Amino acid sequence: MSEIYLNGAFVPPEEARVSVFDRGFLFGDGVYEVIPAYGARPLRLREHLERLGNSLRAVGMDEPLAHEQWSAIFERLLNAAPRVDQAIYVQVTRGAPPVRDHRFPEDTPPTLLAMAKVMKPRDPVVAEFGVSAIARDDIRWLRCDIKSISLLAAVLLREEAHKANAEEALLLRDGAVTEGSTSNIFICRDGTVATPPKGRLLLHGITRDLVMDLARGDGLVVEERPIPAAELADADEVWITSSTREVMPVTNIDGVPVGDGTPGPLWRRIDALYQDCKAELRGYRV
Ligand code: PMP
Repeated sequence: MSEIYLNGAFVPPEEARVSVFDRGFLFGDGVYEVIPAYGARPLRLREHLERLGNSLRAVGMDEPLAHEQWSAIFERLLNAAPRVDQAIYVQVTRGAPPVRDHRFPEDTPPTLLAMAKVMKPRDPVVAEFGVSAIARDDIRWLRCDIKSISLLAAVLLREEAHKANAEEALLLRDGAVTEGSTSNIFICRDGTVATPPKGRLLLHGITRDLVMDLARGDGLVVEERPIPAAELADADEVWITSSTREVMPVTNIDGVPVGDGTPGPLWRRIDALYQDCKAELRGYRV
């Protein structure tokens, strides 16, 4: 990483400093975005910046920069390595007032951070065999639509998945599956695709929307409806989606195969379309 953006300046990562009074550090009081970019061109940038605005408004903060200003910052960061796939991380916290106090501070500028990191190409094992998941109770709060940096529950769930040699923890609330700890979920049964509806209990994933557009554009029926946990066991295919994972086939949940236990034909169809989107942005195929 050659330089990162922090509060109006581009600095080498080792020189970037934030106060110990920063409310992101003390309270997890901030929001973030992760934006994938191919050939230095962000995928669905407007949608990511709109979601950032929604997260900020939901926690009582103003948008600190206009979309064009963010865009110019990202362009500079991405152009340090224009030929590789990258993900931009953006974080806005409620700043660093001089005392620790839960109440919103007055006259305190937010802390702004943006940095790009290289995204490695997907391991070929994923397309060949799929990934494993575990299903767990959703122990998070009731505003999962806010992309908050308070991620302790997600960290604990993801670690539990990791210890079980699984890629993801699928989350259950009141008998229904909501999403993954760091991804959205789709299930397929008899040629129909379904994903839980948007609301406060899941993040409104940008990849989720893109995958729905691709599937519908390809003639598939996509339902947005509550998915009872029992449907996980009956599914022909289960996918997880996120900006960094793209569309991943889940072929095993808590040790039980999904469908025939291999990545399914619908996943292959959607993944091919997703790869086309990336290639179009890059202007070439890898
Ligand atoms: N849900 C959760 C809880 C997430 O953390 C993420 C990705 N960070 C997603 C869904 C997927 O969102 P997106 O497709 O916008 O990356």
